[in-house]
Amino acid sequence: MSDYFDLAEIALRIIEKSMSKSKKRLSFSKSEKARIKKIQKNRCKACGKKSNVLDIDHIDGNSSNNSLDNAQALCPNCHAKKTRTIKQKKLKLSQAVRYLKGLLKE
Ligand SMILES: [Zn+2]
Repeated sequence: MSDYFDLAEIALRIIEKSMSKSKKRLSFSKSEKARIKKIQKNRCKACGKKSNVLDIDHIDGNSSNNSLDNAQALCPNCHAKKTRTIKQKKLKLSQAVRYLKGLLKE
C-alpha cells in the first residue's frame, strides 16, 4: 500500500510543478510579432484563414518561453478556442490534485 502513496506523492509533485505559474510573463516584441505573421503569410496557424487581426500565441502555453519556435499566429476565434481547452485541462489537473491530496490524508 505504501507504494501507492509514493506514487501519489510523485504524481502530485509533477502536477503541481506543471501548474505553477511562471514568474515572468513576457510577450513577444512588435518586430517578433510582425515576423511571425510574415512567416505565416498573415494566416491563422490553426484554421488557415487569412486575417489582419492575428494574436501571437505561445504554443506550449508557457508565457515565459518566448522563443520563436514557441510562437504561432492565431485568429481571435482559434486563440479563444485554444485558451478554453487549456483552462479545461487545468481544471481537470486541479481536480486530480485534490483527489490525490485526499488519498494522502487517509
Ligand atoms: Zn483560426
